[in-house]
Amino acid sequence: MSNEIIFDARSLTRAYGKGPRAVRALESVDLRVHRGERLGVVGESGSGKSTLIRLLAALDTPTSGTVTFEGRQVTGLKERDLGFLRRRVQIVFQDPRSSLDPRMKVRRIISEPLRSPLIRAELAQLDPDARVREMMEAVGLDYADADRYPHEFSGGQRQRIAIARALAPKPHVLIADEPVSALDVSVRAQVLNLLNDLVDAFGLTMIFVSHDLRVVRHVCSTAIVLQGGRVVEAGPTASLFSAPTQDYTRQLLAAVPSFRT
Ligand code: ADP
Ligand code: MG
Repeated sequence: MSNEIIFDARSLTRAYGKGPRAVRALESVDLRVHRGERLGVVGESGSGKSTLIRLLAALDTPTSGTVTFEGRQVTGLKERDLGFLRRRVQIVFQDPRSSLDPRMKVRRIISEPLRSPLIRAELAQLDPDARVREMMEAVGLDYADADRYPHEFSGGQRQRIAIARALAPKPHVLIADEPVSALDVSVRAQVLNLLNDLVDAFGLTMIFVSHDLRVVRHVCSTAIVLQGGRVVEAGPTASLFSAPTQDYTRQLLAAVPSFRT
């Protein structure tokens, strides 16, 4: 990882609702992500993990605080001015069943980001069909299946399609929000290893969200631990794992049955 800061979030707060009943999903979170870093975001369900990444990816607006991406402040920009971030920050969501449009063929799904006007302006030279082939091969799918629909694939293959779609527009950052939690235990390790290899091969920065600290340790060099919308611990995953300073982090380590990877 380099010294260059790719994401800089300052005092991010996101409250849902107003007044005493407001849910403070995220509270004064400061975060710096360096280019090439693999940052884990860990915490129990409801701790604010998805809220944080939605704010980073400008899919949501903070109640207060700012997000800066590659030196440009994102907070306050209109959608039409977000093209630089839309292409360079891609997300793989938890469940490919809901993140992939069942009515679209795989070819269309993977090339869809390339057709978005905001992204096309940056990638005019990329041939969609060639890119679909390249991406399907990169994630271990057969290009001969490009004209099939998502339901014709297994769960693990569907998540590979989602990964191919995310990588098609040549992002700088890949955000993965619980990318294996909805998959059969038997295919989780394969998909994690694939993500690991692709992040290496394409020199990406990765933000990897999981409720399972052990999965994060397998994939990430550093991590933050969220509890109730606040960062309660941060550091190299190896030390979070071997010497957690917070009881909460110890509970996360103890809570989930592990799987071998
Ligand atoms: P995680 O991804 O760690 O499970 P989330 O970021 O999804 O947590 O949610 C954090 C908190 O914010 C939870 O209490 C959740 O119920 C609340 N929350 C998230 N999205 C909304 C929303 N659209 N409206 C109201 N509350 C929300
Ligand atoms: Mg979530």
